[in-house]
Amino acid sequence: MIDGLSPAEFVEWVRLCCFIDEDSGCWLYQRSHNDKGYPIAYGTGVRFGVRRPLYVAAIGEIPADRFVSLICGCVSCLNPAHMRAVTRSQYMHKAVGGRPRRADILVRVTAAQRRRADTKLTLVAARQIRARIALGDKYAAIAADYNCTPQNISYIAQNRTWREPSPWAI
Ligand SMILES: [Zn+2]
Repeated sequence: MIDGLSPAEFVEWVRLCCFIDEDSGCWLYQRSHNDKGYPIAYGTGVRFGVRRPLYVAAIGEIPADRFVSLICGCVSCLNPAHMRAVTRSQYMHKAVGGRPRRADILVRVTAAQRRRADTKLTLVAARQIRARIALGDKYAAIAADYNCTPQNISYIAQNRTWREPSPWAI
């Protein structure tokens, strides 16, 4: 999970990373996916799959030996309401043909949606970025992960942008 976020904030962060498809209710993740199409994110220097920690944050502990499956069948979906903790055999059955279609992952978001997400995402990202700076990560490496410039990272390091305490509740 991303350091410094409560479970509720983590769920909110994930939701803001998604395009919400109003027809299906799917939360279609707009950030990185691994080579199997599963949503991934970066904590303080650690790459992790988003689905399981999101299930824990939104719903609760995953029973032992259970897998988190999506009832909608969309590999990229992160709507906790679409998640079920299933047995391995149920999971394997569901997983057949479960590779995501590009269209499931890359949904065109409107400029307004993107701006709304970016505003809040940047607050969260700034905290992550400061944590990584504290760990000694290079500005250029952090900038590459956040798709911005080392100069942006420098501003965050100097508290010139996204100064704490952040207006989280706007
Ligand atoms: Zn879904």
